[in-house]
Amino acid sequence: MKGRVLSVASECVPLVKTGGLADVVGALPGALAAAGWDMRVLLPAYRALRARLDGMAEVWVEPNLFGGTGRVMAGRVDGLDLLLLDAPHLYDREGGPYSGPGGDWWDNPQRFAALSWVAARIAREGVAGWRPDILHAHDWQAGFAPAYLAYQGAGAVKTVITVHNIAFQGWAPASMMAELRLPAEQFHPGGLEYYGGLSSLKAGLVTADWITTVSPTYAAELMRPEFGLGLQGVIAARAARVSGILNGVDTAIWSPEAEPVGFGPGDMAGKAAARVALCAEFGIEVPGPLAIVVSRLTDQKGIDLLPAVIPDFVAAGGGLIVLGSGDPALEGAMRALAAAHPGRVAVRIGYDEALSHRLFSGADAVLVPSRFEPCGLTQMYGLRYGTLPVVASTGGLADTVIGASPATLAAGVATGVVFHPTDALAFGQALARLVDLYADPALWAQMQANAMGHPVGWETSAARYGALYQRLLA
Ligand code: ADP
Repeated sequence: MKGRVLSVASECVPLVKTGGLADVVGALPGALAAAGWDMRVLLPAYRALRARLDGMAEVWVEPNLFGGTGRVMAGRVDGLDLLLLDAPHLYDREGGPYSGPGGDWWDNPQRFAALSWVAARIAREGVAGWRPDILHAHDWQAGFAPAYLAYQGAGAVKTVITVHNIAFQGWAPASMMAELRLPAEQFHPGGLEYYGGLSSLKAGLVTADWITTVSPTYAAELMRPEFGLGLQGVIAARAARVSGILNGVDTAIWSPEAEPVGFGPGDMAGKAAARVALCAEFGIEVPGPLAIVVSRLTDQKGIDLLPAVIPDFVAAGGGLIVLGSGDPALEGAMRALAAAHPGRVAVRIGYDEALSHRLFSGADAVLVPSRFEPCGLTQMYGLRYGTLPVVASTGGLADTVIGASPATLAAGVATGVVFHPTDALAFGQALARLVDLYADPALWAQMQANAMGHPVGWETSAARYGALYQRLLA
């Protein structure tokens, strides 16, 4: 056994998910346990999870946990060694983890301070004979955990905080300091104070032994105002203790061999059959590269650039299928694009997991023109399916795709097309490059083979987290 790790988070696949955070928290324990780490995950017992409490063992009780009784229940659930924080006054409600029918829960500061408080207590005192060597906090919901631990005396326990999305910072008014059990003397710019109030994410960033985010490029970007969204100075001040570790994808679910029209590496006839089926499904015929977009339709994702670049791409022989939903104006723009290019461009507004699998199976390229992208998943699905990614050079996109250039083509390592900056000019040029590459079947086949050989599973990420834990414990 290499060490004990308590992961503290508000989401975890397959139990509760609103975003990529849940995938990471759910995937890491299995991958790290296989490498010899003893992993536990602490989650709030939301209403939907309370049914799981039967059969779990009560291992800890606090009579007054921010206004009611809190108890920690331990057990093995869905393959995870889980600690559920059961505090009905905070979590037993109809609605999502962060919001109900009327918007954000009014007591989110207390709800997630409670989770963090209990995590710090477990780290100091242990539960049922188990005490972690590492406390790993995820995002603002767990941000106070390293802070409580630091202020109470962490002993030998080391702390890590991972930033999955810097946009959510866990703001609370300064008047809540005492109620949130935070020491008054820590209210200063180098400590808890954040633009006159409090931010649980900042609290974690200034007190954790190490900071990680979900890609090396995003780690560097976060130190700049355009990306750090107010926290750039806090992160830059700790630059020597910041690292980026890419997420993985679930290669059991994202497996071209397992698709209805399936194919493996080297079986490009299978992929061609998937392309034929896809074109038939959408009633399109595309002589050049068939591109897809599978995305939330928002400005972050650069979707607004498509109307400027797709007409030239279509004129050069390309085609496009868009699957997504989001901003109504962008949904309208996508429908207009399809209407202007019948037989070449198709759009499906909505969320459709099964269709997304058919799209990655049958398409030649996936477009990801994001303005920022902490890690990004669809470019990794593209690699795995030989559906070459065309990506903006930002965040995890820059870290996962090797752009075609004379040097990378000569070395035989290119896996896609990378452009910079995120604007219509650079994006349009990238699509022109894609058309040229597609016209050279040997080169294209080489790039597909490179892409499909690129490791995107969790093993690599887990090894990086394991190495970080080991360094902290050394
Ligand atoms: P983000 O979390 O910022 O939306 P990611 O690329 O990290 O972006 O993850 C998005 C996930 O959601 C991917 O798994 C993608 O395939 C999926 N997805 C997004 N939109 C749709 C959709 N309309 N239908 C099916 N899957 C979608």
